[in-house]
Amino acid sequence: MTGAIKKVGVIGAGQMGNGIAHVCALAGYDVRLNDISPEQIEAGLATINGNIARQIGSGKLEEKDRNAVLDRIASTPDIAKLGDCDLIIESAVEDELVKRKIFSELSPHLREDTLLATNTSSISITRLAASTDRPEKFMGIHFMNPVPIMQLIELVRGIATDDHTFTIAREFSDSLGKTVAVSEDFPAFMVNRILLPMINEAVYTLYEGVGSVEGIDTAMKLGANHPMGPLQLADFIGLDTCLSIMQVLYEGLADTKYRPCPLLVKYVEAGWLGRKTQRGFYDYRGDTPVPTR
Ligand code: NAD
Repeated sequence: MTGAIKKVGVIGAGQMGNGIAHVCALAGYDVRLNDISPEQIEAGLATINGNIARQIGSGKLEEKDRNAVLDRIASTPDIAKLGDCDLIIESAVEDELVKRKIFSELSPHLREDTLLATNTSSISITRLAASTDRPEKFMGIHFMNPVPIMQLIELVRGIATDDHTFTIAREFSDSLGKTVAVSEDFPAFMVNRILLPMINEAVYTLYEGVGSVEGIDTAMKLGANHPMGPLQLADFIGLDTCLSIMQVLYEGLADTKYRPCPLLVKYVEAGWLGRKTQRGFYDYRGDTPVPTR
């Protein structure tokens, strides 16, 4: 734990938010987990429970610590209840309007010294910071999926972020046992600036009939030694999130090389968002994933 932070608020209990709550509680922080959807809070807490059981099973956590970790996580559908947190990490859907609305609703409930962060994959930290009452106390703290397993945190300063906020964000990231990479505040930062155009190109490869879903994934797993194929990875990230990131790259860098593939748009319009909705480039409703094209 860091001296400055004791209580961490997490907004959004989806696949990233529940992972962030999990690693914070594991590191000894008290956590307040918020979501507009009570069902998502329930599902998020169930996921944390399952992941803790897996960590106990693999010897990474002792049985005696299970309840202590779970007891540190409280949930609330009321954003005002995050008012006593020292640091709040927003991890709601990748939609700038939703995020801006969250920060403007949240700001009046905060102490003057509360730090704010966003887990956005791509949206300008400087612009989001400007929608709060404290741009100098605002940072990008970008976790990777799945949060309990992935080692990296990308730290991103907005133009107004002060040194104190950055230092605390770095100490906080270290205290979670993660490794930090620092990125400048440009669309999609470092990891997704490189990763998402590759995924989008894989979708174009499918769209143009160069290969099938299985063919493309096998090619990249065995041909480029990637642990997951790009379409499997897209399903894992969430196709809505992939599309939002491509739109941010396309609009933010004004370069046609980032145009989102129309097939990716079609999957999102169908509500086939990948694993989280049981269907994307693969159908996950049976025992083994079946390609949908
Ligand atoms: P998700 O769809 O699993 O979860 C999003 C959650 O936000 C949902 O539970 C939804 O109910 C909630 N939400 C929506 N509006 C809200 C509001 N007004 N207040 C509170 N909660 C609200 O998405 P995710 O994959 O967890 O992504 C969340 C954030 O993390 C996004 O900004 C995304 O870009 C970022 N991110 C995602 C990944 C990834 O691989 N999926 C990796 C790193 C960062």
